[in-house]
Amino acid sequence: MRNEREGPGKGGFQTRPSTDNRQPTTDNRQQMNNTNNPSLSSWLPVPPGSDFPIQNIPFGIILTKDLSPRAASRIGDTVIDLYSLAALGYFHDFHIEPDVFLSSSLNNFISLGKPTWRAVRNRLSELFEARNSFLRDRVKDHSTILVDIQDVEMLLPVKVGDYTDFYSSIEHATNVGIMFRDPANALLPNWKHIPVGYHGRSSSIVVSGTPVHRPKGQTKADDAELPEFGPSKQVDFELEMAFIAGKSTSLGESVPVRDAEEYIFGLVLFNDLSARDIQKWEYVPLGPFLGKNFGSVASPWVVTLDALEPFRVQGPKQEPAVLPYLQTSGERNLNIQLDVLIRPEGGAEHLVSHSNFKFMYWNMAQQLAHQTVNGCNINVGDMYASGTISGPTPDSFGSMMEIAWKGTKPVGMPDGSERKFIHDNDTVIMRGYAEREGLRIGFGEVTTRILPAK
Ligand code: CA
Repeated sequence: MRNEREGPGKGGFQTRPSTDNRQPTTDNRQQMNNTNNPSLSSWLPVPPGSDFPIQNIPFGIILTKDLSPRAASRIGDTVIDLYSLAALGYFHDFHIEPDVFLSSSLNNFISLGKPTWRAVRNRLSELFEARNSFLRDRVKDHSTILVDIQDVEMLLPVKVGDYTDFYSSIEHATNVGIMFRDPANALLPNWKHIPVGYHGRSSSIVVSGTPVHRPKGQTKADDAELPEFGPSKQVDFELEMAFIAGKSTSLGESVPVRDAEEYIFGLVLFNDLSARDIQKWEYVPLGPFLGKNFGSVASPWVVTLDALEPFRVQGPKQEPAVLPYLQTSGERNLNIQLDVLIRPEGGAEHLVSHSNFKFMYWNMAQQLAHQTVNGCNINVGDMYASGTISGPTPDSFGSMMEIAWKGTKPVGMPDGSERKFIHDNDTVIMRGYAEREGLRIGFGEVTTRILPAK
């Protein structure tokens, strides 16, 4: 008989079957850890096609009518309260204070370092694995630890200190160059040498489901002599993914490109809303300002790089060669399918784009190496958005500006209406998932309803 006082880390897992004979059959890459094993299943129910099988184990912040904000994970439609799990001793051998999970952001947990987040994720994989009866049979703990997804409100997973928006899709940068500058020289001379970006604003980053008012501001029509003030007529989405810094640096320190992924906690879907008419009038000479900071919306579950490991792919060939501090080798892109849908008020969802994160010209390691090469410090919880993720074909463009090509090719909606940009009370929905040989790791969705100007 097992001693009840014995914690799960000290022999409590001896009921777990050996996994030595369950090496991945699809790939021999050494970095693949056992949590990715496609043959794993959970004793928690996972609906077919779920983004959240036991191989995902994302992190987020939940709130319920009974529970204060706290860190959580998710398998299928069941939310796992990490504070309660810690308080009941299931992480006792990691020496984590349970209170680190009792927070309205993941920042304190992330600050414990990658070995700790990895250990927690691995422990969740073990505890909820179908053949492990340890927690499954401790039914009295279930009502404390497990919450139905219907009963939780998701909060923004991190407190974002700083936000950078890159511009790393060559298809997007080329489309913008063709539309607004010179089709013959669509890319500016620096574009293939620098992961171009700008410092955005973190105060207006909100979680999925938060409605955003149409911004007001200055615009100037091409044929007008003077600018006017009023609601933007060109509210757009930008299909992006954002990574979250998992490790801080000191001022003066640079993150070497080869180590950069060690500084990444995980990724979210990101809708970087933009007002094109405001942007167009204001952006010369210092770049985006009020056209880009009235709302950027993140999905609530942070999916770790460990979970995404099986979906690595080679990025586009970089020609000309980049400077040594930006050179990477191996599979640095991620094959994540991305959909954008628009749902008019009272109407049905309509797919307007199907893109993929794998198209990015600059990878995340290069972005972070460049961000810090001058000695700029970074902090846990910082957010780094990819820039609009456009693919090579018009059905894979990542913004309405490109899809409707500056308004010249309006998108027909099922209700007979047309869209050049986003209308009041439209909801923009972005979904993302990676899928390979029966294993699907998803992000859920990021939804944003555009309300009329205040
Ligand atoms: Ca952007």
